[in-house]
Amino acid sequence: MNLILFGPPGAGKGTQAKMLIDKFDLVQISTGDMLRDEVNSQSELGKSAKSIMDRGDLVSDDIIMAMIEKRIQMTDCNNGFILDGFPRTLKQAVELDQLLDNFKINIKNVIEIVVDENLLLERINKRSTENKNIRNDDNSVILKNRIKVYKKDTMPVIEYYRNLNKLNAIDGMQSIEKVFQEILKIL
Ligand code: AMP
Repeated sequence: MNLILFGPPGAGKGTQAKMLIDKFDLVQISTGDMLRDEVNSQSELGKSAKSIMDRGDLVSDDIIMAMIEKRIQMTDCNNGFILDGFPRTLKQAVELDQLLDNFKINIKNVIEIVVDENLLLERINKRSTENKNIRNDDNSVILKNRIKVYKKDTMPVIEYYRNLNKLNAIDGMQSIEKVFQEILKIL
């Protein structure tokens, strides 16, 4: 079972992805996590991505597509994967379709976790005061940019899946458990 999970920063996408992974024995493919690994290992890719990520802007489609192409061919994906934070642009979505076609991989569901913008800001502020390991991009100024980028570049991707009748939108302002139950209903 392969899924795509959408949601603006702070929507609880990562939490839901982890719960789904445990339940269905899937792997999480988070392009954000993959990029942070590159930054931490100070690879060339990581060095070029760091300042873009710190601003909350998007890393180039070509870099992301190369990472994804390699990742979905790994054997741990055979039982299914959750795409988390990808595709983030229309170009990525169209190129993903080509990749899936080539590898004869099917996406079962596309899920959007919908959360009101003010609540997102509240959540991210809370996350940055509670967590000692603060992400460089977890503060309200950068968050605003990340939400802006999400609206501009990623909302059209959500529309793309809506037009293909593949999209399931879920109210993400309920408890973590309720959101999870709604996702399970869809699956
Ligand atoms: P995330 O953890 O998904 O919020 O990603 C953190 C940051 O990594 C984003 O703000 C972007 O700078 C970058 N990033 C992650 N995924 C993508 C993607 N699919 N396309 C472009 N940039 C991405």
